[in-house]
Amino acid sequence: MNKKISVVIPVYNEVQTIEKLLSELQKLPEHADFEWEYIFVDDGSNDESLKKIEVCAKTYSQVCFLAFTRNFGKEAAVAAGIEVSSGDAVVIIDADLQHPPAIISEFIKKWNDGALVVSGVRTVRQHDGVIRKAGSRIFYGVMSLLTHEKKMQVESTDFRLLDRIVVSEFLRLKEHRRLNRSLIDWLGFQSVDVRFDVADRSQGSARYSYSKLTKTAIGAIVSNSQIPLSLAGYLGCLITFFAGFLGLFIIVEQLILKDPWRLNASASAMMAVFILFLNGIVLMCLGLISLYIGSIHEESLGRPLYVVGKRSSFSSNVSQRTEKEETN
Ligand code: UDP
Ligand code: MG
Repeated sequence: MNKKISVVIPVYNEVQTIEKLLSELQKLPEHADFEWEYIFVDDGSNDESLKKIEVCAKTYSQVCFLAFTRNFGKEAAVAAGIEVSSGDAVVIIDADLQHPPAIISEFIKKWNDGALVVSGVRTVRQHDGVIRKAGSRIFYGVMSLLTHEKKMQVESTDFRLLDRIVVSEFLRLKEHRRLNRSLIDWLGFQSVDVRFDVADRSQGSARYSYSKLTKTAIGAIVSNSQIPLSLAGYLGCLITFFAGFLGLFIIVEQLILKDPWRLNASASAMMAVFILFLNGIVLMCLGLISLYIGSIHEESLGRPLYVVGKRSSFSSNVSQRTEKEETN
């Protein structure tokens, strides 16, 4: 029996590219060699995307879909798609055709050669503005500095192929604040890279606004690193030591030795500067800590990662798969 490949496609207002993407996927030379499952996850689109997906699902038996009740974000959409997938490998691809479907052939070759994770790494980002490019560099720089685990590769993308072994492990990660690609990297499976040129968006603008991107980046940093917390501690120690030393110096120089160096420092002016400085530091530390408290709070709410409003039937689901594996 042929192996099965599931393609997970997060969709947010992509009505114009859905059919084109599907036809390109069906044109892959490997199309006949495998069983395919195309999982569209509609992330609360407010255009006709869901209707288009429903039509595709009626036309092609390989197409199935989930539709969120509202916009939960790409990370949740990808996680949901992976959760319902049943393939021996799962390919994650954007719906906007910026990830060229033809590259999947290379992914499959590497997978056949034994790779468990194949990652698309972009070579060109022509379509991105200066701010987006700079933001992405800063994010990867900070992530690399702050995380102990496997370094995140600059220009890494969500365009990936995961073997079922990786998928099973990935599904054990239940955190809400997530960046799927950093979670996949965190799992530690050896990844084989495939370079590709990012195509320009064929229609519309990026569905990720700067504020959404910043939120995702901060979430990824907070949930992946405890270093900022300890930095605040180190900074606190340093400042206390420095302030204590300075305070002692003032007391000895001004009050005990009666100002031999003629500094003429007014004690209240010095104190005012100290208090202002320390207040700034305290506020900065509080800000840092509150990021983490926010994260703990969000996790402790225990809300589901997404709410599915509608779903198609799936040719086989995870539990059937497990039964199959047990009987083998
Ligand atoms: N997307 C999504 N939910 C969102 C934003 C985006 O499912 O809230 C989908 C979008 O339809 C596309 C993919 O995620 O298929 C990548 O989005 P986008 O093109 O905005 O990201 P970029 O290319 O800038 O990384
Ligand atoms: Mg895009």
